[in-house]
Amino acid sequence: PAPGEDGVPAGTVPGRMVILTLHDITALRRSEQMRADFIANASHELRTPLSSLLGFIETLRGPAREDLEAHERFLSIMQDQASRMARLVNDLLSLSRIELDEHMPPAGKVDVLDRLDGVMAALELKAASRRIRLTLEAPDGLPAVVGDEDQLTQVFQNLVSNAIKYTRENTDVTVAVSLADGVAVGVSGPAGRGGRGMQMVAVAVRDQGEGIARTHLPRLTERFYRVDAARSRAMGGTGLGLAIVKHIVNRHRGRLTIESAVGVGSTFTVYLPAASEESGEGRAAEPVR
Ligand code: ADP
Repeated sequence: PAPGEDGVPAGTVPGRMVILTLHDITALRRSEQMRADFIANASHELRTPLSSLLGFIETLRGPAREDLEAHERFLSIMQDQASRMARLVNDLLSLSRIELDEHMPPAGKVDVLDRLDGVMAALELKAASRRIRLTLEAPDGLPAVVGDEDQLTQVFQNLVSNAIKYTRENTDVTVAVSLADGVAVGVSGPAGRGGRGMQMVAVAVRDQGEGIARTHLPRLTERFYRVDAARSRAMGGTGLGLAIVKHIVNRHRGRLTIESAVGVGSTFTVYLPAASEESGEGRAAEPVR
């Protein structure tokens, strides 16, 4: 902003002080702008199905009052729209809850394979409806990870469900779990826990879909960012799934990487700190010395 804005009289305050003040205001403005954009986006996403619901109610009470066959059709559309609003509100609530305790790392121990088994069983029907084969690959003796069971379940659910939604019909979606070394795989140790040599459990969700062009990758985890909004909505997406994944992974001091090649497919990998064998409930793995 130009000097003189924000009530700082230009030329009357020592230069250095003015610069610092403007920096703060710029950061504040940016976060206010992001907040305003988020509320505008959320309202828009809710208003669309709401307008449609109001329209159908009016039609049902007016022109289609006596048309019983239309009632069935309209009610089914109204149910879809209401479900979409419910999904959106649930995702918004999840996101705000996760953000609230993002600074508090979770303390439980989570069996990743057990969580993945549950998530994949629950998505089996959805996969079958698109003739997609779901496979889980994992070595024996995998350690537990430090985490929050419900939140990690949500991470896996969002990634596997995206793979099913965005891949081509009659292809494979593979979830490959492995033990990775924080350094060997190029993961720059999770903040605040040493990192070097830390064992991580890597969960890679791989699809054979259309892939995502490189230009979209940096923005993919932003709230409401979609490569193809119409497709996302048609598949029942809220545009919040990857933002939720990112915040949960941050809270777990983990990492999310996205690799994608257009026409080949995408791999979303989550790295989570392994719980050390001897550590009791809630202790993170110590870096190997
Ligand atoms: P949505 O509810 O739209 O799926 P997400 O936040 O989960 O929202 O994902 C954001 C966008 O990222 C999606 O709209 C889609 O364009 C893209 N995307 C996510 N996962 C995949 C994938 N496996 N393959 C291709 N595109 C994907």
